[in-house]
Amino acid sequence: MAIKISKTEQPLNQRKSSRFIKSLSNDEWKKKLNPQQYRVLREKGTEIPFTGKYVNTKEDGTYLCTGCGAELFSSNTKFDSHCGWPSFFAAFDDKVVLKEDSGFGMRRIEVICKKCGGHLGHVFDDGPKPTGKRYCINSVSLDFKKKK
Ligand SMILES: [Zn+2]
Repeated sequence: MAIKISKTEQPLNQRKSSRFIKSLSNDEWKKKLNPQQYRVLREKGTEIPFTGKYVNTKEDGTYLCTGCGAELFSSNTKFDSHCGWPSFFAAFDDKVVLKEDSGFGMRRIEVICKKCGGHLGHVFDDGPKPTGKRYCINSVSLDFKKKK
């Protein structure tokens, strides 16, 4: 399956969800994802803290999007944030889109998979060095590929 990723950069507010490269209808996503994945990836749900399967994963490898398989995070950037969700101080360049999210009366920055538009989690400014960022990501949005 060859999916080309556009190198064209646009301001975040000009990106429309219909422009994501791998765009399926809601019905198609419902067939592809389990109900929990659908709720998080397509409806911006949040899993219950400390319940996700990757919260305490420390193995070397790569975290992929469960929606489309895009490589999103390296285990090298994962850190123990004690917040209850897998946390990373950086994402792979050009693989995620950040978008302002003012839902629930909070201004947060949403992290979205650039390839399929799936909701991954949020990014905060209280992470460790060198970036100071904390990508707080739902385990159900991630697949883990162990390094061989
Ligand atoms: Zn994706």
